[in-house]
Amino acid sequence: MTAPSEPLPEIVTRFAPSPSGHLHLGHAYAALFAWRLADRPGGEFILRIEDIDGGRNKAEYEDAIYEDLAWLGIKWREPVMRQSERGDAYKAALDKLADMDLLYPCFCTRKDILAEINSSAGAPHSHSAYGPIYPGICRDVADSDRTARIDDGTPYALRLDVAKALAIAGDLTWHDRSQGEQQVQADLFGDVVLARKDIATSYHLAVTVDDAAQGITLVNRGVDLFESTHVHRLLQALLGLDAPEWHHTPMLTDPSGKRLAKRDNPLTLREMRANGAAGDTIWVQAIQSLARQATAVEGI
Ligand code: GLU
Repeated sequence: MTAPSEPLPEIVTRFAPSPSGHLHLGHAYAALFAWRLADRPGGEFILRIEDIDGGRNKAEYEDAIYEDLAWLGIKWREPVMRQSERGDAYKAALDKLADMDLLYPCFCTRKDILAEINSSAGAPHSHSAYGPIYPGICRDVADSDRTARIDDGTPYALRLDVAKALAIAGDLTWHDRSQGEQQVQADLFGDVVLARKDIATSYHLAVTVDDAAQGITLVNRGVDLFESTHVHRLLQALLGLDAPEWHHTPMLTDPSGKRLAKRDNPLTLREMRANGAAGDTIWVQAIQSLARQATAVEGI
């Protein structure tokens, strides 16, 4: 006799930080938002460590993530998935896309890309929310040339041929819980990198593969990553993965109105704790910060 199988959770959310610095109030808001959505019968919250970028990540930041989230009262499923251990899954996805003839090697440096964009000055849509849109320099390089450069040891990234990909995937939509139905807009991102020169994957590929592998039904993250979702939706369609729902949380600002970003060293959760804050007041502090922001925008 087989044991009755566990019912599938109805909502699976996640928080997926990169251990490249200490968490601040903005992270706490995103993590608590996801945690609170899943904190109900039929819900599950997952923590995933996004540590593909070996150069920027530190073990001490990863340890701090566990400590800070526990202080907030969040509980997650063990063992925690770490992207640095997922190379095989990313390779399998890349192989599948390569078999569909959707990838090409790109030998360009950032300088090459900017020079090409500047030489076709005035070209519309040359920049996305994340920087220059790749102008396609390596897309049509002859196979013999590609092989010669690879054999030479010239470093290369792998890019997705988005026009070809869309011809296969067709029109795609995705759903954001607060902003509604969205149409995938390829001109927002161009031929994205799926495997970087230095690591055999990229944020877009890893996050898409892992959200599917972990059965995430609602991807919650900061609105600074809203545009990325167009890429992820396309990759899901190509890889035959189920599309979750999304929710993009607003970015919090400091009292002067400046967006909280790790690189500017905002007050961290650890510092708030050292200053005597209690973990269970942080949700309210985040909401108060959002209310301050909204009243400033409305000029009330
Ligand atoms: N790892 C990303 C970060 O720390 C978040 C990625 C995501 O939630 O999709 O900013």
